[in-house]
Amino acid sequence: MKGEPVALKDSFLKHVAQTSPFSHAFPVARAEGCRLWDTDGKQYLDFVAGIAVTNVGHCHPEVVEAVCRQAHLYAHTMVYGEHVQEPQVQLAEAIARVAPEGMDCTYFLTTGAEANDAALKLAVKLTGRSWIVAFHKAYHGDTLGALACFGEERFRHSFEALLKPVDFLPFGDFDALERITAEHAAVLVEPVQGEAGIRLPPPNWLVALRERCDQTGAMLIFDEVQTGFGRLGEWFAAGEWAGATPDVMTVAKGMGAGMPLAGVIAPRDMLWRFAADPPFSHITTFGGHPVSCAAGLAAMKVIEREGLLARARECGDYLRDHLRDIAAADDQLVDVRGAGQMTGVEFASEKRAREVVTAAMAEGLLLETNLMAEDVVRFSPPLTATRAECDEAIEKFAKALKS
Ligand code: PLP
Repeated sequence: MKGEPVALKDSFLKHVAQTSPFSHAFPVARAEGCRLWDTDGKQYLDFVAGIAVTNVGHCHPEVVEAVCRQAHLYAHTMVYGEHVQEPQVQLAEAIARVAPEGMDCTYFLTTGAEANDAALKLAVKLTGRSWIVAFHKAYHGDTLGALACFGEERFRHSFEALLKPVDFLPFGDFDALERITAEHAAVLVEPVQGEAGIRLPPPNWLVALRERCDQTGAMLIFDEVQTGFGRLGEWFAAGEWAGATPDVMTVAKGMGAGMPLAGVIAPRDMLWRFAADPPFSHITTFGGHPVSCAAGLAAMKVIEREGLLARARECGDYLRDHLRDIAAADDQLVDVRGAGQMTGVEFASEKRAREVVTAAMAEGLLLETNLMAEDVVRFSPPLTATRAECDEAIEKFAKALKS
């Protein structure tokens, strides 16, 4: 390498493109379970989990083993859909076993945004309509299709010339559902809005949304990129948790246990439409990467064997109960909400939330705010987090509040 050696952080700031002017530039050295170490050897409890990605914890030995085994066999042989690759087949079978009835087929992709784009394309193809409904403060990713559904104008406006117009409705509003019509190809919704600050829909709202889609023929797409693969203490929000099953679910994040992997899950007859009129309607080189699928399959086995769905429910409730006790004695803490291991703690101001995230980091606890709710601090630990680890997080959080 040419030039003087520079510190890792300086080099990061110089050579790696940033996504904001205020990057933490956190120098990560290694990670295991719910813990991360920085390059100075300081240990952190990771209650962000790559934003709801490392559901079975960092470097779970079974995931690491599956990744290494598959990398030795083959990493890539042919664009997805042409070669029969065992890890894909096994993962698709495993998903079909736990997904709501009839959702028996997975179209593998790499990122959540790409999965949402594919689902929207499918809806347009199947319905012959073109209008889409999304919700205020929705986040579905940053490709052009997903970006068009971004529920906050400031994130769209620089690119508006490239985007299809979308009808935005208020999330959780029953009356607004009347504005879904037979002109709409699809309604794209997060069962729990993540980047909006962990906003849960009111009871039965998703049921009413399902009914309205049935009346109008609009396809219902659940974006389960954050909620899927156990985050809410169920495999998916779709089904029992929501009280409704969509036509299509999109998934990513926790699916690959830290490896890049996403999918559109739907009945096979529906997904088959990608293969016709024209064939190859949605193709991608790395979708369903065999190493990622091997990791995803190993993670599903871990979730089942270690009872992580139940643990996410129990430890999530436990965490929120304690955070509510803390909130009761702190007038800057406005609300604690969530489900499973998806929790939001709302502060009276963005400034206070940011101060607390910074103070928590100094205490050795990683937390984050949300893209469209910087006054809300999110707790999204691995589903492996135990009560003892939750206690540790609560203690560090309480100390951070005092600083
Ligand atoms: N949908 C939701 C609900 C998300 O939270 C995200 C990412 O945070 C995405 C889609 C985009 O996923 P990706 O970053 O993999 O494109």
